[in-house]
Amino acid sequence: MGSGDAPMASSLKEFHARSIADREGFWAEQARLIDWEHPFGQVLDYSRPPFARWFVGGRTNLCHNAVDRHLAARRDAPALIHVSSETGTERVYTFGELHREVVRMAAAMRALGVRRGERVLIYMPMIPEAAFAMLACARIGAIHSVVFGGFASHSLASRIDDAAPVLVVSADAGSRAGKVIPYKPLLDAAIELSRNKPAKVLMVDRGLATFERTAGRDHDYAELRARHLDEEVPVEWLESNEVSYTLYTSGTTGTPKGVQRDVGGYAVALAASMKHIFCGNPGETYFSTSDIGWVVGHSYIVYGPLIAGMATIMYEGTPLRPDPGILWQLVEKHRVTVMFSAPTAIRVLKKQDPSWLTRHDLSSLRTLFLAGEPLDEPTARWIGDALGKPIVDNYWQTETGWPILTVAHGIEKTPTRLGSPGMPMYGYDLRLLHEKTGDEVGVDEKGVVAIVPPLPPGCMQTVWGDDERFVKTYFTSVPGKLVYSTFDWGIRDRDGYYFILGRTDDVINVAGHRLGTREIEESLSSHSAVAECAVVGVADALKGQVAIGFVVLKDPALAATAEAAQALEGELMATVDRQLGAVARPSRVHFVSLLPKTRSGKVLRRSIQAICEARDPGDLTTIEDPSALEQVRHALGGGR
Ligand code: ATP
Ligand code: MG
Repeated sequence: MGSGDAPMASSLKEFHARSIADREGFWAEQARLIDWEHPFGQVLDYSRPPFARWFVGGRTNLCHNAVDRHLAARRDAPALIHVSSETGTERVYTFGELHREVVRMAAAMRALGVRRGERVLIYMPMIPEAAFAMLACARIGAIHSVVFGGFASHSLASRIDDAAPVLVVSADAGSRAGKVIPYKPLLDAAIELSRNKPAKVLMVDRGLATFERTAGRDHDYAELRARHLDEEVPVEWLESNEVSYTLYTSGTTGTPKGVQRDVGGYAVALAASMKHIFCGNPGETYFSTSDIGWVVGHSYIVYGPLIAGMATIMYEGTPLRPDPGILWQLVEKHRVTVMFSAPTAIRVLKKQDPSWLTRHDLSSLRTLFLAGEPLDEPTARWIGDALGKPIVDNYWQTETGWPILTVAHGIEKTPTRLGSPGMPMYGYDLRLLHEKTGDEVGVDEKGVVAIVPPLPPGCMQTVWGDDERFVKTYFTSVPGKLVYSTFDWGIRDRDGYYFILGRTDDVINVAGHRLGTREIEESLSSHSAVAECAVVGVADALKGQVAIGFVVLKDPALAATAEAAQALEGELMATVDRQLGAVARPSRVHFVSLLPKTRSGKVLRRSIQAICEARDPGDLTTIEDPSALEQVRHALGGGR
């Protein structure tokens, strides 16, 4: 067991090495960052590989650690800052007020019959009640399953079926870029479609859209809240390995997987990451531009910052409205110290006048963290230069809940390296494996990014309701070895920095050369005309596969005429030629005005590839804008 006088690690590498060599001691120490109602008897139970159980026998609660725990020291300090640029509203909840609202929501849920271990599906826009609902579930030991508010009936129905919730919490409508999107008709249709119909629906009425109510099933939150205004709902202490929530992966590579997470391991992992990686201090403000429908929203809008005693901004709106300076205006106004966004949001800003980035006082901001997609060098450099702040890439997955690769400036001020998310984080026994033999590859050699189990605290426990699928999906890709595959392809330089080259599905084989789509995309992006791009491998009778690029230009006028487009295509090919060699040169580069992406902003390369090969684009339930696929079809059809 670790003790308070354990030697301080002086470097990230040492810190990491100890986390693997002495897992139990290391994590027992981290576990002190949170409150336990009852201490754990065993740090790790790994008697049934690859299933890991952390902090066995310990009793704790996520809501207690995020809210109640801070009441003594910071009852009147801001906890939840809700901003909607859609409705033009802003409301700050102190820890005391947040506590009250969470308890009211918990009382409403209990009144509707929700019990410990039962599922509550949350299908909501970015409004404070969505965070109250998550925390209320955590408080009473119900399992939440947040479904991104942008999903339509079909996607919602399949998640209702999987979770079999007793209650759905929803709202009349969301709003996106000024357009009201009614939720209730979609919810009604989804319940109609689903096999596991919830007994109750709890509706938050924002007054944006009228909706129909089903008598006996649908309840109004304002009414229930008023009835339970002063009720006390004590925290339900949960064994560390009880289930806190389920959440689906983004569906970039196929059917989304239902990730199941525990209570104690997750709380410890988040508390540790807030300290070592995000370096957030109590009383400061954290701003993540994600959505509660994604894992970043769970870990770093709701739970992580609050567990750390920070205020967290919950933002409903786009990065462009009312103007492209809105994110930075919020940083200035709320003195944000730690910010978290995605490369895709930054690429949106890249198409705007860069002066928007310098109109606000950003002196409070220490670091901008970016994750979710490869952060190409030009984008990283552009935003870093414009803001004059450190940009820290971090690589992880819905499955892991917190970063796998990044730098941990709470441990050591390791310099960042453009194009690399950084080094393995403590707790992750990371390897790069040869995809066929499963042997470790050497420095500067490409391999599959894999984790030797047990996975550290905070990572998924299993696939919800399907242990077999968990083992089969994640632990059987390397023959003869029980390792967790990330299904990403990477490389490590001699200093230990990793580079993610793309998904293993996306690796292109051109005349026997293995190329990551990321490498070619990175090269195309280095051309000053390119805002963003996607490269896919397409079957070719002669070469096996050829690379085809789809490029969104900063200024579409650059390819307005056929001649201009042809000239630019030639320039882009020459750029790749020069940087990577002729073998990587795309056989075509098409210009489109948008790329097919998931609702979480990830490029759907598999769908682009399928269209290029005249195949069915597959599961599209998570696509952002289906017209992007039409553009791909059109581009291939000869139009530019
Ligand atoms: P699905 O698993 O359903 O296909 P998904 O993998 O897109 O969807 P997420 O868990 O949201 O679902 O995304 C994790 C993936 O995103 C990683 O495996 C990796 O491919 C990519 N990714 C995340 N962060 C980074 C990063 N910093 N650099 C490069 N790639 C990243
Ligand atoms: Mg994935």
